[in-house]
Amino acid sequence: MKKIAVLGSTGSIGTQTLDVVDKEGDIEVLALTAHSNIELLERQIRKYRPRTVSVNLPEKAAELKVRVADTDTKVLSGPEGVVECAAMPGVDMVVTAIVGIAGLDATLAAIEAGKDIALANKETLVTAGDIVMPLSKECGVGIVPVDSEHSAIFQSISNQKRFLKRIIITASGGPFFGMKREELADKTRFDALKHPNWTMGAKITIDSATLVNKGLEIIEAKHLFGLDVDRITPVVHRESIIHSMVEFSDGSVIGQLGVPDMRLPIAYALTYPMRKAPVSEPLDLVKVGKLTFYDIDNETFPAVELAKKAAKIGGTMPAVLNGANEEAVAAFLRDGCKFIEITELIGRAMEAHRPVLSPTVDDIKAADAEAREFVRASLNK
Ligand code: NAD
Ligand code: MG
Repeated sequence: MKKIAVLGSTGSIGTQTLDVVDKEGDIEVLALTAHSNIELLERQIRKYRPRTVSVNLPEKAAELKVRVADTDTKVLSGPEGVVECAAMPGVDMVVTAIVGIAGLDATLAAIEAGKDIALANKETLVTAGDIVMPLSKECGVGIVPVDSEHSAIFQSISNQKRFLKRIIITASGGPFFGMKREELADKTRFDALKHPNWTMGAKITIDSATLVNKGLEIIEAKHLFGLDVDRITPVVHRESIIHSMVEFSDGSVIGQLGVPDMRLPIAYALTYPMRKAPVSEPLDLVKVGKLTFYDIDNETFPAVELAKKAAKIGGTMPAVLNGANEEAVAAFLRDGCKFIEITELIGRAMEAHRPVLSPTVDDIKAADAEAREFVRASLNK
């Protein structure tokens, strides 16, 4: 039995992870964490009987403690509770499905405790990849990506890393593909939340509409696969069937295909290096009919260029890109910011920032806080 902790078990990746657990049958859940959804967490406790859970909001944790008093599950709270779940003795692998830089401390704690990581929380690598990757090597920890593109790249590279020339990372293009900047001006959160191919948490769905998600993923890939961002080429692929490709020194291009279903890369990460029975529908290429590819429209969607710039500057700059984005997306989701302002604010926050070049975790958190404050102040003007 593989023993896992799922951080962010009430979210899109978290619930799909538990769906994979149900299908695999030989995975035991020792810990679960959530921000505030204690109704769902209670159902998960009664089904999976974890040893420990943690709820971020203390008042919700207190309420849950009363509700599950008849079980053996211990209820913790706050960020310290998540860290305790991440480093829990007996856990083999931690699934990091928390959204945002909020997942950083727990991921670091899990690595320090020697846990293998099934990494969904890309913001951890974007903000602190230069700390996380060396630490994982030092601690002998394996990081298997859950993000579909990175799972595809990981699978395509296989054991041929030394021949890797370039990564071709695919992007669906999101709901506003083909539109020009003027057409984006009046887009609301309802328009932006309609993703063509994937059902995901609200934040990443907005990131997919702005293409910030692809920018974050390019930085994520840089850290995971040790490649300069100029060797990571994004390409719009509307059908989301090829999840990404790699080009080797001889010009051969290898990709991984599958239906757009996150349970596939989640199952791969949980069972790696094994492959088990399918967890989703088989791919029917005749039904798909055709696969299409387009360049990114960098004028309408400046996010990819901003992310590459942040990655090249390095240090605390990617944390500023990420923090400004998290704050702007949160504002957009409560109608406090226009769609096109999201990337404008990221660009301006980056311009205002003086990067620390070999940052500590505290420097990264300070840069994140500075970027958030910059966005709040800009929106309140
Ligand atoms: P989500 O919003 O659906 O779920 C987020 C989870 O994190 C929830 O369980 C929530 O309770 C918890 N959480 C939120 N804020 C927290 C905080 N401050 N402290 C502790 N816990 C907190 O998000 P999601 O779509 O599942 O995405 C999770 C991560 O996976 C993100 O980093 C995202 O980029 C990545 N990812 C998601 C998908 C997808 O299909 N949903 C695909 C690839 C990568
Ligand atoms: Mg992805």
